[in-house]
Amino acid sequence: MTVPAALTHAGALERWEAVIGIEVHCQVRTASKMFCACAVPYPDAAPNTHTCPTCLGLPGTLPTINRRAVEHVLATGAAIGATAPATTRWDRKNYFYPDLPKGYQISQYDLPLAANGSLTFDTSEGPVTIGITRAHLEEDTAKLVHAAGPDGGRLSLVDFNRSSVPLMEIVTEPDIRTAEQARRYAEELQLLLRAIDVSDAEMENGQMRVEANVSLRLRGTEPFGIRTEVKNMNSFRAVERAIAYEIERQAAALDAGKTLRQETRGWDDAKGATYLMRVKESSDDYRYFPEPDLPPLHLDAAWLAGIRAALPELPAARRARYRDVLGLSPYDAAVIVADQTMTSAFEALRAAGPDLPAKELANFVSGEYGRAAKETAERTAAGLVGQSDAASLVHVLREVLAGRLSRPNAKEVVALHVASGRPAAELVAERGFAQISDVGALGAVLDDVLAANPAAVADYRTGKAQAGGFLVGQVMKATRGQANAALVQAALRERLGGLAGESA
Ligand code: ADP
Ligand code: MG
Ligand code: ZN
Repeated sequence: MTVPAALTHAGALERWEAVIGIEVHCQVRTASKMFCACAVPYPDAAPNTHTCPTCLGLPGTLPTINRRAVEHVLATGAAIGATAPATTRWDRKNYFYPDLPKGYQISQYDLPLAANGSLTFDTSEGPVTIGITRAHLEEDTAKLVHAAGPDGGRLSLVDFNRSSVPLMEIVTEPDIRTAEQARRYAEELQLLLRAIDVSDAEMENGQMRVEANVSLRLRGTEPFGIRTEVKNMNSFRAVERAIAYEIERQAAALDAGKTLRQETRGWDDAKGATYLMRVKESSDDYRYFPEPDLPPLHLDAAWLAGIRAALPELPAARRARYRDVLGLSPYDAAVIVADQTMTSAFEALRAAGPDLPAKELANFVSGEYGRAAKETAERTAAGLVGQSDAASLVHVLREVLAGRLSRPNAKEVVALHVASGRPAAELVAERGFAQISDVGALGAVLDDVLAANPAAVADYRTGKAQAGGFLVGQVMKATRGQANAALVQAALRERLGGLAGESA
C-alpha cells in the first residue's frame, strides 16, 4: 500500500482499533428483471435495449415479483445461517436521481428476507466469524454515462438496461477489525454466492459491489467513532488497500486532534488514496413506506425447506471434508475450494482415479492442471474453448506417479490437452514423451552413466542396493523421465550382474 509519508505514523494501530462493517450489493442471477419481464442484459449489451414501461418507470405500470430472485436471497440466507420471516413485504425507498425513473426504489426496509446470519473464514491470524445483520432484495438503478457533449459541454446519458435488475444487499455487523479481514470476508462471500449458484459475483463488472464503513476507537473502549463510507473498490485488493489507507488517514487526523466528519469517500486505485465524495450532514431520509403496488409475501415453510435442502455442500464444509476426510493440508484444501474450476476438476479426477492419493490429485489440479486451465480461460475470450476430460488427466498423473512421464512433460501434455481436448495418451505419443523402450538406446545412455559414475558402480558391485537406484535414476534424469525403468534395471543387471542375494 502506498500511504503518503505524512500519514504513516508508527504505533497508530496500537492506540486505535478499527471498526468496520461491509455492505455488499450483488446482482442475483435470473433470466428476467426483478419486477418486469425484460431479459437481464449482458454487461456489454447496447444501451437501452432491455427496457419496458415498467422498468422505465412509466405511469400506470405495475410490478410483479420475480420468484427466482426471492429464492436466491432465501438460499443465501440459509447458507449463512440466517432466519427468514414468516411474512415479508416490499418498501419504497424515495429519493430523486436521474438513474431512478420512478423516483423511488422498491426495496425491503424492516422485514429483510434474511436476518442474523454469519460467515466464518480463515485469515493470516486464524479463523474469524463475522455477523451478518441482513440480506434483502431490491431493484438496481439505471446507469449514468458521462460523456463529452456538443460545443465542449458535458453530457450525461442514462442507460436503463440495468434498471430493475434484481439486487441483493448483504450487510454485516460492525464486527470486522482489520483490512485483511474485510478482504477475506468479501472473498469468502463471493465464493459462497458462486458455490450456491446465485450470482457470478464478478467485482470487475459490477455484479458484486463492496462498500466499507470504517471508524476508529481507542483500544479498550466501547463506543464507536465517526465512520466514513468508502466506495468504488473494484477488486479484493482494492478493498484491503482502501480500508488500510482509511485507517491510517483517520488515525493521523485523530492523532492531530482533528474531529472527523461522517463522509462518503471514493477509492482512487491509481493514486492509492481515498477522496471526499460528499459529507453527510444528517442521516439520509428516504421516507420508506410499504410498497402499495405489491402484496406482502408469505414465505411458505415447505418452500423454505426445499430451498435449504437443495443447497450444495458449502465451501467451509468442503474445506473441512478435504482436510479431515481426505487428509489434505489446510492450505491445499483452501486453494482447491477457492476456485470452482479447480474444485470440480478435483472432484472429477477423484471419481476417475479413486485409488490415487488425494494429495497428489490436489497438487496436480492446483499445479499442472490449474495453470493450463487458467491460461485457456484467458484464451477462451479469443475463441479457443478448453475441453478436458478427467480420464485423460488421470492418465497423465498415473504416468507421472509411475515415473514414466516427467513433471515438465506432464505440464506440457496437460496444457495441450486442456486447450485442444485431444486424448492425453495421443498427445504423449505425438510429442515423443512416451517412455523409451528401445533396449539399444537405453543401453547407450546407461553406458554413459556407468562411465561417469565409477564410485556408484563400485558400490553396486559390493552389493549396495542404493547404488543401483542411483544409477537407474541417472538414466531417468538423462532421458527426462522417459526411460522404461524396468528395462534399465535389466540392462544394469546384464552389465554388472545382479546384486548379491538377488536372483538374476
Ligand atoms: P446506513 O444506513 O448508512 O447504510 P447502517 O446502519 O445500515 O447505515 O450501517 C451500514 C454499515 O455500517 C453496517 O455494515 C454497519 O455494521 C456499519 N457500521 C455502523 N456503524 C459503524 C461505525 N461506527 N463504524 C464502522 N462501521 C459501522
Ligand atoms: Mg450505507
Ligand atoms: Zn422491463
